[in-house]
Amino acid sequence: MDCLFCSIAKGEIPSKCIYEDESVFAFHDIDPQAPVHFLVIPKQHIASPADINAENSGVVGHIFEVIAKLAAEQGLENGYRVVTNCGKDGGQSVGHLHFHVLGKRSLAWPPG
Ligand code: 5GP
Ligand code: ZN
Repeated sequence: MDCLFCSIAKGEIPSKCIYEDESVFAFHDIDPQAPVHFLVIPKQHIASPADINAENSGVVGHIFEVIAKLAAEQGLENGYRVVTNCGKDGGQSVGHLHFHVLGKRSLAWPPG
């Protein structure tokens, strides 16, 4: 299957990786929307948040453990935002589940 983030997780497409373990890969976003903006993805292909189910949801909890660790390492002690876009109306542009982590600036709420 041709998937950009599967290829990044396998190292077939280069990225600025900040963390990797057996099930998770994290890397800097190519078009950062904040001074710190990285993405955390499962290595397993899950197409979107709508495809999380009882069989694959374990990695999602692990991703949030990794996010807490990486946010601390990246100096986000003032807070940060975790964003997962889903589908067309949610603004998802890459069809592999990913969690944006944005920090080091004040972020507006509600989002546009
Ligand atoms: P989405 O719009 O699906 O929520 O987020 C996709 C994100 O992936 C965007 O923030 C975009 O900048 C990022 N992105 C797209 N292609 C690449 C790439 O080849 N490398 C990296 N590091 N980020 C990418
Ligand atoms: Zn994929």
